[in-house]
Amino acid sequence: MKVQMRRIGLSYDWAGTEIATCLPEYYRWNQWFFLKMVEAGLAYRRSSKVNWCPKCATVLANEQVVGGCCWRHEDTLVEQRELEQWFLRITKYADELLDGLDKLPGWPEKVRTMQRNWIGRSEGTHVDFHVSAMADTPAIKVFTTRVDTIFGATSIQLAPEHPLTKQLAAADPDLAKAVTEMIAEQKAARETGDIGNIEKHGVSTGKNAINPFNGETLPIWVANYILADYGTGAIMSVPAHDERDFEFAQKYGLHIKRVVAPVISPKDAAGADTDDLSLPYTGEDDAVLVDSGEWTGEGALEAQDKMARFAEENGFGKKTTTYRLKDWGVSRQRYWGTPIPMVYCINGHDGVKPGGVVALPESALPVLLPEQIEITQEGGSPLGKVSAFVHTTCPVCGGPARRETDTMDTFVDSSWYFYRYTDARNAHAPFDSEKANYWFPIDQYIGGVEHAILHLIYSRFWTKVMRDLGLIANSEPAERLFTQGMVIKDGAKMSKSKGNVVSPDDMIARYGADATRMYALFAAPPDRDLEWQEEGVAGISRFLARVYRLTIKYAPVVRSLESHTHGDEIAPKQFAGQTEDGAALLRTLHQTIAKITEDFSGRWHFNTCIAAIMILVNEISAAETAMDTGGIAPATIAELFRALTLLLTPFAPFLAAELWQQLGETAAVFHQPWPMADAELARESEIEVPVQVNGKLITVIRLAADSDEAAISAASLADAKVVARLVGKTIVKHLVIKGKLVNLVVR
Ligand SMILES: [Zn+2]
Ligand SMILES: [Zn+2]
Repeated sequence: MKVQMRRIGLSYDWAGTEIATCLPEYYRWNQWFFLKMVEAGLAYRRSSKVNWCPKCATVLANEQVVGGCCWRHEDTLVEQRELEQWFLRITKYADELLDGLDKLPGWPEKVRTMQRNWIGRSEGTHVDFHVSAMADTPAIKVFTTRVDTIFGATSIQLAPEHPLTKQLAAADPDLAKAVTEMIAEQKAARETGDIGNIEKHGVSTGKNAINPFNGETLPIWVANYILADYGTGAIMSVPAHDERDFEFAQKYGLHIKRVVAPVISPKDAAGADTDDLSLPYTGEDDAVLVDSGEWTGEGALEAQDKMARFAEENGFGKKTTTYRLKDWGVSRQRYWGTPIPMVYCINGHDGVKPGGVVALPESALPVLLPEQIEITQEGGSPLGKVSAFVHTTCPVCGGPARRETDTMDTFVDSSWYFYRYTDARNAHAPFDSEKANYWFPIDQYIGGVEHAILHLIYSRFWTKVMRDLGLIANSEPAERLFTQGMVIKDGAKMSKSKGNVVSPDDMIARYGADATRMYALFAAPPDRDLEWQEEGVAGISRFLARVYRLTIKYAPVVRSLESHTHGDEIAPKQFAGQTEDGAALLRTLHQTIAKITEDFSGRWHFNTCIAAIMILVNEISAAETAMDTGGIAPATIAELFRALTLLLTPFAPFLAAELWQQLGETAAVFHQPWPMADAELARESEIEVPVQVNGKLITVIRLAADSDEAAISAASLADAKVVARLVGKTIVKHLVIKGKLVNLVVR
């Protein structure tokens, strides 16, 4: 990879900053951070349902499950397993991660939207519904953002995998059968990523729950569209005021009870007030409660607050903010990855029960990853089979201990690597704070949008943790983010498994590094996907050959001139004896410089920069005869080729370096200043002004660029086509928009 990068002319400060996250010099700091997070309560271990990729034979974080499948194995369905795992408490920063997005105007809106949705903050109320005639069964907890509609609840819907569903199904074979089918259906829908569009259906359990606000009994159903791992796995169904509940209630003929109405009554066709409100009505601004007991007449928004408080005071509910974001599960049953620096004290000691977890002291770092081990992808973590690794002593009591054999998610490595660049050889700390604070936040970060809710959210989290540890002053890692497109070949993303990978080495061998590099920049703007076409590389290669031939041909003219400015402004002003052809070439050149300079600094649209260079080269080619016969002054020829070479340097650096020498220069082209566009030279000598008569375009007149309104007006009236139109007519209006348009209204 490094060799390929060098070949194609990518410049990195390898010697000063290169890091390798798989080496202990780096990963010991992952372990150090982990210990700091354990101390701060930000890393913890618990048993929970986790995502398991059978192909990776490891646990995955929620962010690494895409459409129900593994992010590395797009066709492998992720399973759910109950395991003891280490988690990082990213949820502690949920609000800051969310609110901080508003202060990142330099990030693409799509990435910010994806992060907002992923964090998924919603304000609402938890309410407990007790199950009728089942006193020992825990209450069903539901979360609702619309507690003000609770008088309109007409059923409770459980997920097929809700604990109460399981309990009820155990005693009811018909229910059990229906539930098993729904679980299979959810699994299949996750597989195709269609869980949101699942065809809704359900089954009644025959049991009832009690609405704590009014004591009404509500039938309990199990529904296929309720997910056990989303919210509490149970909802109160309010068909009159929720689209999804309405659809479900209509399908099964469930009671629909309206409890919210707009303050201003809707009008009927004749314009009179009507109660005939079409349902579901989901408004909450300017809406009041109806048919809601003591709350009737309250504004919907005010009622949300008051009713949440009422539930809390009476012990059956609580105002809550929920998040879709869950803590980051970082344990992996992989060989590669950083060993987690924790041990289990086998006999226990004061304060730690036998088998209890003990953090290693910093002095025990790094915990080295053993080398040369057998990877079977069976029977759990590969490290568990390395007995010399597993067996150790407890750092507190000195008794026997067992090491944690899981390793860290490799996204831990990438969460903070860029800070290490500021101080890559530091052996005493992850980096020196002063150095990091000098450089950070990053001015411009570049990364694929596919990392929007992976790396780009983890690194924001890690930054906040490091700030709270006092290591850095910034709260966000990067001020601006640019998401580049992908390289597509034959309609699909390049990947080894699809066999459509183009090796840069092959392209470089066939067409050269410059052509390969320049094609990649030319084929698409960097934020778009690039469809790789070999003919395109060949085309660029031919273009560069043309530039080479032309430059070599005129290099003697350039070399013969004494007036090298060597790094000063290279543009000679218009001089006496300049020809019209020469001035036209300089005009194109300076327009090209201006365009490329702008595209470079703002939009990074290198493709249009290269297109502009091609147009310039075409004009130079067309002027070959003039150049050969003395129609273009040598000083102009010199300026053209020197500037062309400088403009090419970012795109075709190897060729540019060669041409620069051929032009008689001794200093490296890379040390030259970027050419400056001269506005005066770039200005068009003539302008074109369209002339309309009664709104219809009649002709386009050409005249000197500095013509005033009177001159434009006179020229428009003198044009033969216009004169022909004016025969026998009267001019009612004569409008001149300088440099843009002449409009004549005639009768
Ligand atoms: Zn996988
Ligand atoms: Zn111990």
